[in-house]
Amino acid sequence: MEKTFTIGHRTFVLDQDKAEAAFAAKSVINGRKSEAFNLLPLKYQWAYEIYQTMKQNHWEPEDIQMQKDIEQWNGTELSEAERWIIRMGIGYFSAAEGIVGDNILHVVREVVTAPELKLALGRHAHEENIHADSLLYMISSLGINPHECEAMFEQIPTIKAKNEFVTKTSHDLRRDVDLTDPENKKKLARNIFVFGQCMEGTQFYGLFGMILSLYRQNMFPGIGQMFRYTLRDESNHIELFRNLFMDLVGENMEIWNDEFRQELVDTMKEAVRLEKDFINDCLPVGALGMSSKEFCQYIDYIADRRLEGVGLTPINPGISNPFPWLAEMMDIKKEANFFEQRVTEYRKSSALVMGDDDDL
Ligand code: FE
Ligand code: MN
Repeated sequence: MEKTFTIGHRTFVLDQDKAEAAFAAKSVINGRKSEAFNLLPLKYQWAYEIYQTMKQNHWEPEDIQMQKDIEQWNGTELSEAERWIIRMGIGYFSAAEGIVGDNILHVVREVVTAPELKLALGRHAHEENIHADSLLYMISSLGINPHECEAMFEQIPTIKAKNEFVTKTSHDLRRDVDLTDPENKKKLARNIFVFGQCMEGTQFYGLFGMILSLYRQNMFPGIGQMFRYTLRDESNHIELFRNLFMDLVGENMEIWNDEFRQELVDTMKEAVRLEKDFINDCLPVGALGMSSKEFCQYIDYIADRRLEGVGLTPINPGISNPFPWLAEMMDIKKEANFFEQRVTEYRKSSALVMGDDDDL
């Protein structure tokens, strides 16, 4: 079927059948090569919706006041345990954000074929830049020696182990990998699962919880606020990667067998084990009502929510959330006013959509 558009003295003939064929050729991987980046017709509507939400959540680190944090950091009221949590938070996330961004740009965005997926992934990578920038802002505001952060990343074994756990899933997956091979499809699915559900979805939540626990007790209001913005972004990243994983599997069902499912659950078990070791390094002694034992239970709880989110069996069915207040603080929808002012300033469109996280 052809449709003719006449504009002035020029006539354009558009072929409806070809447009439909282009739509049908869209897929997560092995779809029509589309360097031309033609978003329409949209097939992965959810990706475009997440992109819109991400855009509306835009923030910049410099918007956040650090005065109080600086006073506290230089004052005498904090315990060494509290300072240590901040150091671990800054040390871990400074490079972890970069690892996530790198994996998007060099692996996931390279190999997916539908342009609307590339669009959302490009924004995701940019948000990792914002997060990395926010850590730079914290480091410079508090006057922490940047080499100290780098040293943490290279010398603390539990941080090194977490990083190796994720980066080893990206090494074989670069632009020219043959994704018609089911083994490579599994590698990609595993990479998307590890980054979205194990790392951003689970391993980030130990420190998020500790820093928000300090924030809740009126410590580091600026840092706490930046972590809340970051967390709101992370909930979109987790959802983006969850959808990507589900559609990739849905389009390549030959990989979704018992053996592969078990392998993914075992991978999550490994992520949880590494996170618990890390939590013990962050909280070697109890700090202000926080114990590593409760944080470990919290990680078990979150990991099971992530597994369920992608149709996998939980490891500890029935486990409860030891920090109900954290769920409250992370559910930004309930505190729209907290963000409204800033969000409005960046927002160009008329619809106000707060982070659509039913998050933990
Ligand atoms: Fe991030
Ligand atoms: Mn992220």
